[in-house]
Amino acid sequence: MNLEAAVAPGFVEKAPLERYVDPDRPSLVGRSRAELAAALGEIGVPPAQRKMRVQQLWHWLYVRGATTFDTMTSVSKELRAALENRFTVARPEVVAEQVSVDGTRKWLLRLPGENQRPHEVECVYIPETGRGTLCVSSQVGCTLNCTFCHTGTQRLVRNLTAGEIVGQIMVARDRLGDWPGQCPPDGTIVPTDGGRLVTNIVMMGMGEPLYNFEAVRDALLVVADNEGIAISKRKITVSTSGVVPNIKRTGDEIGVMLAVSLHAVRDGLRDELVPLNRKYPIEMLLDACRNYPGLTNAKRITFEYVMLKGINDSLADAKALVRLLAGIPAKINLIPFNPWPGTRYECSDWETIEKFSEVVFDAGYSAPVRTPRGRDILAACGQLKSATEKLSARERMALRAMAMTE
Ligand code: SAH
Ligand code: SF4
Repeated sequence: MNLEAAVAPGFVEKAPLERYVDPDRPSLVGRSRAELAAALGEIGVPPAQRKMRVQQLWHWLYVRGATTFDTMTSVSKELRAALENRFTVARPEVVAEQVSVDGTRKWLLRLPGENQRPHEVECVYIPETGRGTLCVSSQVGCTLNCTFCHTGTQRLVRNLTAGEIVGQIMVARDRLGDWPGQCPPDGTIVPTDGGRLVTNIVMMGMGEPLYNFEAVRDALLVVADNEGIAISKRKITVSTSGVVPNIKRTGDEIGVMLAVSLHAVRDGLRDELVPLNRKYPIEMLLDACRNYPGLTNAKRITFEYVMLKGINDSLADAKALVRLLAGIPAKINLIPFNPWPGTRYECSDWETIEKFSEVVFDAGYSAPVRTPRGRDILAACGQLKSATEKLSARERMALRAMAMTE
């Protein structure tokens, strides 16, 4: 396939770094009700009025997707002006948008950085029949260095704020025309029948969400609020490489679905693939899973398992995997490895993946193999790495070659 053709629609030219200036006023996007009340207090709204004003703001921000205070017509003119003076409703700035031939969309977003240099993260939309999943980032880069993951090779790391996490969902809905009364741009693949385009959220973009627990929690509680963006907690999944102390908190304090990046059935190998395993080994991780609050057969944990040729893909591994998970309400997600320039791994052969999935299937698990999506725009799992680090000409060629062979 032709990469240029695949990314042409809606492609936004990259702005040079020199043009970046930190925002002069803070954005209200992503704030909780209590934080909105505090913001109103700052501009002198008397306590007795705050609750009603918060309700109004909440509605305009999260139900209507207002991008200016001006459009908030139920709010008095004076208050709109006072808000405008002190705050914005800005989302993270879109630096580039790429549209894959399969309908996957990837946005490169610019966030305030240091010394007038912005940070960048990526956010990916994947339409499928009946649902549209948004893959959201929790950090710029990642402090963990899983050896098969491209994001882990990025040096620059910072936690995103709750506003920046909610902001990714707002940007996606803006760009998809997914607010009431809007139409998606021409050529958008609309996965639902007249319903919303973003129906599911997965915290599977850049970063380890459980190393940015508070911001992820606060953001997801805003996203799940049923008077606002209203994406049900059953349709939100947090994926972790195994930050054991925060697994129980995820169930207790957020109450969303959990995915665990397992990838190996023996500690020796997992120590190498997911170095965090040295701190929280497999048995400790599975114990936390067994005790995940709210775990039932109807609300299972998804175990992710990336298929690496000759590394973790033998039939013995498959059998050990089902033995290991016995007794835990689980789903197993086999992910074909997505290669990236410079990686030492290869994806398992298709035949091997099929045989592996048969063992898993025979043990009573549905074993869907997650087909890589958006590979032509480098949007598939583990390939999210912002353009902060420039690709060499050789790497770019390798990427093009990959896109062609898909
Ligand atoms: N840090 C979290 C969430 C982000 S990674 C975590 O590790 O779970 C999202 C998923 O993509 C994880 O299961 C991760 O192991 C997987 N992944 C990373 N790199 C990959 C690659 N190159 N190919 C396929 N899957 C990959
Ligand atoms: Fe970080 Fe997840 Fe990548 Fe590991 S797989 S480096 S935890 S983003």
